[in-house]
Amino acid sequence: MIGPFKNEPVRQYKTEEERRELKEAIAQWEGRFGQNYPLWVDGRKIETEKKHASINPSKTSEIIGYVSQADRHIVDQAMASAWEAFKTWSRVEPEARARVLLRAAGIMRRRRAELVAIEMLEAGKPVVEADADVAEAIDFLEYYAREMVRLAHPPAPVQIPGESNEIRYIPLGVGVIIPPWNFPLAILTGMSSSAIVTGNTILLKPASNTPIIGSLFVEIMHQAGLPEGVIQFIPGSGSEIGDYLVDHPKTRFISFTGSKDVGLRIWQRAAVHQEGQKWLKRVVAEMGGKDAIIVDEDADLDAAAEGIVISAFGFQGQKCSAASRVIAVGSAYEPLLEKVLERTRKLTVGDPRDLDVDLGPIIDESQYRKILDYIEVGKREGKHLLGGERGPTDGYFIRPAIFGDVPPRARIAQEEIFGPVLAFIRAKDFDEAIHIANDTDYGLTGAVYARRMEHLEKARAEFHVGNLYFNRKCTGALVGVQPFGGFNLSGTDAKAGGPDYLLNFLQMKSIAERL
Ligand code: NAP
Ligand code: MG
Repeated sequence: MIGPFKNEPVRQYKTEEERRELKEAIAQWEGRFGQNYPLWVDGRKIETEKKHASINPSKTSEIIGYVSQADRHIVDQAMASAWEAFKTWSRVEPEARARVLLRAAGIMRRRRAELVAIEMLEAGKPVVEADADVAEAIDFLEYYAREMVRLAHPPAPVQIPGESNEIRYIPLGVGVIIPPWNFPLAILTGMSSSAIVTGNTILLKPASNTPIIGSLFVEIMHQAGLPEGVIQFIPGSGSEIGDYLVDHPKTRFISFTGSKDVGLRIWQRAAVHQEGQKWLKRVVAEMGGKDAIIVDEDADLDAAAEGIVISAFGFQGQKCSAASRVIAVGSAYEPLLEKVLERTRKLTVGDPRDLDVDLGPIIDESQYRKILDYIEVGKREGKHLLGGERGPTDGYFIRPAIFGDVPPRARIAQEEIFGPVLAFIRAKDFDEAIHIANDTDYGLTGAVYARRMEHLEKARAEFHVGNLYFNRKCTGALVGVQPFGGFNLSGTDAKAGGPDYLLNFLQMKSIAERL
């Protein structure tokens, strides 16, 4: 029997025991630096000549491991093997498929310290963020397992005399799963397990910045009893094999989370019918954000400042849900800005192995350079008030940056930077604040700090984002509680962790029998 879903609690790592266990796990990973990580195709571990070094962004001289890289030939092999596995996996009882996810959740709980440690080393997550990512992965497994059990027995359709009518949900086929690096376990687990529990088989291409975390997920699923062939694990560079995977005539669906540019490219390419292709490819594409927090004149400014700093700078601002714009109404602007600056000055930046740092590194060199460029752009577009300096040079560290008096249409107020850069924007009244908030290409998350009922109700109706929050931060959506996904160019609004999500990977068959 499966009990009701409950979110996995996040640990704070304040106790000596939690800290000791974690430090041991970090030391174990350090002892394993430089190992090889194979592909997993057709039930076999394959090492390729070509390998990609996954490095620690806090200390770029540390190589976490060397990861084998799939090429087109291997993709073809993986595709054939996944279709072979689909024949049996699609017929496994939904309850049995769900049990694999529940077992995997149990294994993640037992291997938590090891998983948290690798998040800190490979993704540069500060400890509590790392733990939250593992907890969210566990939540996805627990939630989608229950969702599959529910969907296995859909309510009967309307019955008419002389016939028996039935509906059932059946899987689609082989999907390509392309996750981002920023929630390297949670999003990868959610995207993969949802596709698998519904009876599909997958080609999983992890993000190049965090493939070792991906390989741990695959190991855990097999430990949980998943038959070989259901996941074909094919690390490789998106720019080298991404198009090939998307264009492949045997690809039935693509589940992507990442940037707007790559998402649009996939959307377009997947629409082109290929020789030998027998279906319309389904695409789930969850993309970027330019998320705003509106602070009204009568808001609790201390609460707002606290929520803004966490939303803007948690995990160095590298969240699709991160606040990158503050829109302050009228007289709230000055005192709010002062409070946010004061809190931000106190943030420490460094290697997450020091468990007390607030911010870790930027994920890689290209993001690091891009963010530093945006900081220069910001200096021309607004008032540079704080931060933006480079940190210790053995890693990709940047001090959190704040710009004031940023025009709403400035580049740093419109383009996703994906780093610790916050733009303060003035609005003369609440209506203008809502207008500015909605005036980007995106529509992912947003928050409002306000007391007046009319303003909260106006935002409830008009602030056009997939995930809206009142009087709290705009990050940290909980599985099952706040189904997650954005409007406009933030993507297909698939709502991960919500009751409609698994339908993305199923098709409904209607069966009528004359009696
Ligand atoms: P990205 O650069 O778009 O990469 C995402 C994935 O796509 C990676 O696995 C990447 O592989 C792959 N890829 C790259 N080019 C490809 C191509 N031509 N065809 C197919 N796949 C390709 O995004 P990211 O830097 O990893 O992640 C940050 C972005 O994700 C931000 O924009 C953020 O807002 C968004 N995000 C959105 C959500 C959401 O739920 N809406 C959640 C998290 C993140 P390589 O790593 O090998 O390049
Ligand atoms: Mg990238």
